[in-house]
Amino acid sequence: MNLTALPAFADNYIWMIDDGARAIVVDPGEPGPVAEALDARHLELAAILMTHHHADHVGGVDALRPRLRGPVYGPAHEKVPLPRIACQQGDHAAALGIDFEVIDIPAHTAGHIAYFDRGRAGAPIVFCGDTMFSAGCGKLFEGTAAQMYDSLARLAQLPDSTRVCCGHEYTLSNLRFAQAVEPDNEDIARHAEHCQSLRAAGKPTLPSTVGLERRINPFIRCGEPAVIAAARAHGAASNGGSDVLAALRNWKNEFR
Ligand SMILES: [Zn+2]
Ligand SMILES: [Zn+2]
Repeated sequence: MNLTALPAFADNYIWMIDDGARAIVVDPGEPGPVAEALDARHLELAAILMTHHHADHVGGVDALRPRLRGPVYGPAHEKVPLPRIACQQGDHAAALGIDFEVIDIPAHTAGHIAYFDRGRAGAPIVFCGDTMFSAGCGKLFEGTAAQMYDSLARLAQLPDSTRVCCGHEYTLSNLRFAQAVEPDNEDIARHAEHCQSLRAAGKPTLPSTVGLERRINPFIRCGEPAVIAAARAHGAASNGGSDVLAALRNWKNEFR
């Protein structure tokens, strides 16, 4: 199976998995990059997965339907292009012989879902949209810090080797913030250097892995003493995980 990040808009990725003949795409916010990739590699479109309702993730779904030879899966509790097979926690999305487990990860949007494959044929993989980014997390448009804390905890408990495929190339700016939170974290400093050279070469910084995120992502490190101390200095009401996350999220919103 091949995994490709198709750049879209200014900083989105449309993820594509293919077996050399057929492809699944995740969050096609626009149809052009998908159509080009399918044509260039002579692939049939076998399925579309949607993680949440934002237009930069679902805006290309209807335009791709004429060439689709399989299902569209999407969140059960959000307004997304129809028809779609409604998915929520515990459901499965099957395509290309892969059986994705659906995980509810609300907060960025109220019905946001992730698709996780245990990787029977390779490394595990999760498509998590705009909930967990590399070294960051999505904005709380429709949910609370407590919900984001729980949703990130669900993603962080996946196996270390899980490839993390998120919806945007925000890694460098997230790492700058992570360094402000944890100036002494050498994993963050090392990874920032690595990502700078990737971006300078025009390459994506993604996928990340769950194991790496556990070392560099302040939003899933809310129990670490250094992160708690930084959050308390930026208004966290207590040492509790969701209070720490709330303070980090507010701080990040103003961070330049
Ligand atoms: Zn979004
Ligand atoms: Zn987005």
